[in-house]
Amino acid sequence: MYDVIIIGGGPAGLNAAMLLGRSRRKVVVFDGGQPRNRWARNMNGFLSSDGAKPGEFIQKGRSELVKYGVELKQVEIASATHSKGQFVVNDREGTVYHSRKLLLATGLKDVWPEVENFEAFYGKSVHHCPYCDGWESRDKAIAVYGKDRSGIGQALAMKNWSDDVTLFTDGTDELQRDDLELLKVNEVQVVKEKILRLEGEDGNLRHIVLQGGEKRAQQAMFFSEGTEQQSDLGEMLGCEFTSDGVIKTRRLQKSNIPGLYVAGDAARDVQMVIVAAAEGAKAGIAINMELQQEDRKKVG
Ligand SMILES: Cc1cc2nc3c(=O)[nH]c(=O)nc-3n(C[C@H](O)[C@H](O)[C@H](O)COP(=O)(O)OP(=O)(O)OC[C@H]3O[C@@H](n4cnc5c(N)ncnc54)[C@H](O)[C@@H]3O)c2cc1C
Repeated sequence: MYDVIIIGGGPAGLNAAMLLGRSRRKVVVFDGGQPRNRWARNMNGFLSSDGAKPGEFIQKGRSELVKYGVELKQVEIASATHSKGQFVVNDREGTVYHSRKLLLATGLKDVWPEVENFEAFYGKSVHHCPYCDGWESRDKAIAVYGKDRSGIGQALAMKNWSDDVTLFTDGTDELQRDDLELLKVNEVQVVKEKILRLEGEDGNLRHIVLQGGEKRAQQAMFFSEGTEQQSDLGEMLGCEFTSDGVIKTRRLQKSNIPGLYVAGDAARDVQMVIVAAAEGAKAGIAINMELQQEDRKKVG
């Protein structure tokens, strides 16, 4: 019986494990090895680790946990249930584990635009988050991908980082007259033609090739096609979700299920590494306090 099982060994899960290990709790972290930013060259916007390599950052975090006796298991969890104040999880190899508390830190995955060669540039010169990669794209020829009217907000926002912004609607023609006027006064160009493919080398975007053969010179692309939970464990356990598909949390990362906490991208809030780590720390402290309350002897 573990005090705490943590599912997900990204920044949220590892930081929770750090606080719980330091609180002398019996903790195990299960990780499937698919962190959301695994395509990215660098991890930006984390004070003291700005520009770090994502894989190296996680490895350093894992090594810092060893001295606290935290168990790290590289295996995916297939199912999780709870009954009578206990959690039971099954890994993909069929082993069953029990715990008093459970933390889900299983992250999200991004929905990608259906554009040829997308993966070759993702995380290098094609991004979804301007706070993560806007600075590195500053003053470049920035493309914003958004079908129908979905790219308007991001196209306007990217003017913060460059004067040269073009909205690509990829073969859709849903922009209204007001939209076009707003984009025009803010000096955002609009291309409605369908995109054939992305071109460039070593992950650096050079051109967006249109169906008619025209090549538009672009050095960076941003998109926002939405996200999905990386795991269905939240649903399996009966968690409440927001309309954006993230798990609803209350104070200190508590879910609607007693003893079940959720931290990082899987839960509601800003989706960045430093926020995920901070939510993990909050959850770790809250879980330890709940265990302290349960174990404290009563007078008389
Ligand atoms: C291309 C890209 C670039 C980014 N750049 C930045 C940046 O520069 N700066 C920044 O702050 N943020 C950046 N982000 C966002 C950042 O990746 C996330 O905010 C952060 O990784 C969230 O941490 P997390 O711990 O919640 O989830 P994750 O890091 O996604 O980790 C979740 C872990 O849970 C595991 N898991 C899921 N389901 C299971 C299961 N059933 N069993 C076992 N393990 C499971 C996964 O394998 C994964 O390892 C970027 C994201 C992307 C996609």
